[in-house]
Amino acid sequence: MKLDEKLEPIYQDVLKRNPGETEFHQAVLEVLESLGPVVVKHPEYLERKIIERICEPERQIIFRVPWQDDKGQVHINRGFRVEFNSALGPYKGGLRFHPSVYLGIIKFLGFEQIFKNSLTGLPIGGGKGGSDFDPKGKSDDEIMRFCQSFMTELYRHLGEHTDVPAGDIGVGGREIGYMFGQYKRIVNRWEAGMLTGKGLKWGGSLVRTEATGYGATFFIDEALKVRKDSFKGKTCLVSGSGNVAIYTIEKIHQLGGKCVACSDSGGVIYHEKGLDLDLIKQLKEVERRRIEDYVKYHKDAVYKKNGNIWEIPCQVAMPSATQNEINGKDAALLVKNGCIAVGEGANMPTTPEGVKVFLDAKTAYGPGKAANAGGVATSALEMQQNAQRDSWTFEFTEQKLAAIMSNIHNLCYETSAEYGAPGNYVLGANIAGFIKVADAMVAHGLV
Ligand code: GLU
Repeated sequence: MKLDEKLEPIYQDVLKRNPGETEFHQAVLEVLESLGPVVVKHPEYLERKIIERICEPERQIIFRVPWQDDKGQVHINRGFRVEFNSALGPYKGGLRFHPSVYLGIIKFLGFEQIFKNSLTGLPIGGGKGGSDFDPKGKSDDEIMRFCQSFMTELYRHLGEHTDVPAGDIGVGGREIGYMFGQYKRIVNRWEAGMLTGKGLKWGGSLVRTEATGYGATFFIDEALKVRKDSFKGKTCLVSGSGNVAIYTIEKIHQLGGKCVACSDSGGVIYHEKGLDLDLIKQLKEVERRRIEDYVKYHKDAVYKKNGNIWEIPCQVAMPSATQNEINGKDAALLVKNGCIAVGEGANMPTTPEGVKVFLDAKTAYGPGKAANAGGVATSALEMQQNAQRDSWTFEFTEQKLAAIMSNIHNLCYETSAEYGAPGNYVLGANIAGFIKVADAMVAHGLV
């Protein structure tokens, strides 16, 4: 899609003001490309410079995180929290611990989060944070010391009505526990709603662990329903083997599909008769091992070191690892091999060339900001339970998640149809997500 001539200078300005932040540029361009028809309909957004404002984070925090390893060696990492937009609620979004993290990654994630959170229909603004700390190979004690040091700076920016982090890549229940403990110790308050993804015994919500994967599967299930189709009998690929991948596989299997492959940064597991999810959970969640060990337990499965999962023929692909993991070639191969639906559990896993291939092929393509919104939506449900000092059952919470995902799907579909491209969920998600935030910003005046 071409950028509207009124939006081009705004994009050029983003490039100039944020040099070298390629992932952020990519995320901004993808949204601006959808907004051409919106600013024609709503000239007030241009007059009030809503788009320029939305592209500029409200606040960016960068800080030093010193910590000591088990041998007493000192290490220095960099911590980030980008508080992007609070028009709809307190900043909300995860923390990512990964060596690839730098400001450009956190800003792309924070920017996406604004629209994703808007689509959930729940009162949450957009933010994201993290560190270039690499949790791989670290002991439990090292993780704890790092989390404590990270929170010792970050705590002053957080609060249930201000900014509410959660997990993302490299941050799960264990890390959230250590960060919650340190926050509580510093502020001397047991403030449940300042962090989500908490343990079930201390303020967490049932279904939060499963929510991103379940939600992405629900979204694609809705998209398949529009085509009078379902997951039954479908061969599926799920990249990654972390929390999002695991619960995507679980829900697909519950809905009658068969996942034949998953992966990690080392390689791909292919198991033609269907993945053994209990084994994957044991290896990844309990023992924190690499996915290559899967073949030690299943002689008929294959491990391909540095393999490309997208070469395996499938009908449904669920990229659930990381950004830009499907390029134009991979997308073309998927389509050629018969893939009819793609649901993004990860954030921005498809490159712009890949997205174009899926849209041209009329693939049921659910972009991350719509398809993976179930995670943050369930975080907002966790906040609701915390505010009520209540905890809901698994069934009740899952029903709420399913209803939210169905609403997001329908909102994106109806918006895509309203703007003349029914079934283009990229357009639908960007426009619907944007308008709600833009209208709130207009109502709040020049702030
Ligand atoms: N990191 C997740 C996301 O990308 C979840 C954020 C949250 O629960 O706040 O949406």
